[in-house]
Amino acid sequence: SVAKHYPVKKGIIVSRQVGAVRAVDGVSFTLHRGETLALVGESGCGKSTTARVVMRLIEPTGGDIIFKGQNVTNVAGAKLRALRRHLQIVFQDPYASLNPRLTVADTIAEPMAVHGIGDAASRKARVQELLRLTGLRAFHADRYPHEFSGGQRQRIGIARALAVEPEVMVLDEPVSALDVSIQAQVVNLLGDLQQRLGLSYLFIAHDLAVVKHVADRVAVMYLGRIVEVAGKRELFSNPRHPYTRALLAAIPRPDPSRRGAVTPLGGDLPSPLNIPPGCRFHTRCPVAQAVCREQDPPLREIAPGHTAACHFAEDLPRFDAEADGGIA
Ligand code: SF4
Ligand code: MG
Repeated sequence: SVAKHYPVKKGIIVSRQVGAVRAVDGVSFTLHRGETLALVGESGCGKSTTARVVMRLIEPTGGDIIFKGQNVTNVAGAKLRALRRHLQIVFQDPYASLNPRLTVADTIAEPMAVHGIGDAASRKARVQELLRLTGLRAFHADRYPHEFSGGQRQRIGIARALAVEPEVMVLDEPVSALDVSIQAQVVNLLGDLQQRLGLSYLFIAHDLAVVKHVADRVAVMYLGRIVEVAGKRELFSNPRHPYTRALLAAIPRPDPSRRGAVTPLGGDLPSPLNIPPGCRFHTRCPVAQAVCREQDPPLREIAPGHTAACHFAEDLPRFDAEADGGIA
């Protein structure tokens, strides 16, 4: 039923003013229970801001955050603490995000202490359980973060986030700082944990390569707006926004003979202080028309479950990942 599949609802509309600038402006999405929604875009597009607004680490200046049917936009005090139990975040940098003076056991137990869960003995047992769950070892409990590799530190960060049994995890580029050889291990761990624990993930990434393996749906952001949302298969095979096409074309090919065909997205990301009028992508869009400089295309449904913010979404030719590498 609808209630069964969509209990984490309904949507986050975020409008965050930073000085005179809207870093994020009218971002709206729904995260369903048990799914991974990827939020993808270049650095500076507002995806981390969105993550922090969802976490209520920074305040939205407008819009609503609805969690399981409750408007939690303005909750404070005990209600905010209760909400925070259900929403946990894993940060990008496993070096900066762990307190070097705390042992692994204290690091993982800290959120339980903050939320008043259990006593010292039960927390200790729970730490051992979390170490096992995240592929760490019992004796790691007494070690300090500097004794671990980046991949292991990220496992510690994940164990800490899981300590309070959250329903939603915001993963802010959880593997971007790790060696490529380690990334797949952490991605696989996250997948296993999601299956076992029924977690919902908001997975932030700066490119589409990582997302290809983890996402159920993908939302693409550009300059503080969501420009396209679709199921992963649909997004990769039938992208309807020129920016999504450019991001797809930028994914490195395993076959080096194909690489010559790929031209990365031209032009620089405009400053958020100076957002282009009309379609904010028009300064870099290879198929922009005169209307694009004047009219801001709304995000609209172009097929069931597929939305795009482009005046010409339906008119773009069939996407061919190889041939369209030369876009822009
Ligand atoms: Fe390009 Fe125009 Fe579509 Fe914007 S609205 S993405 S400028 S074609
Ligand atoms: Mg970021």
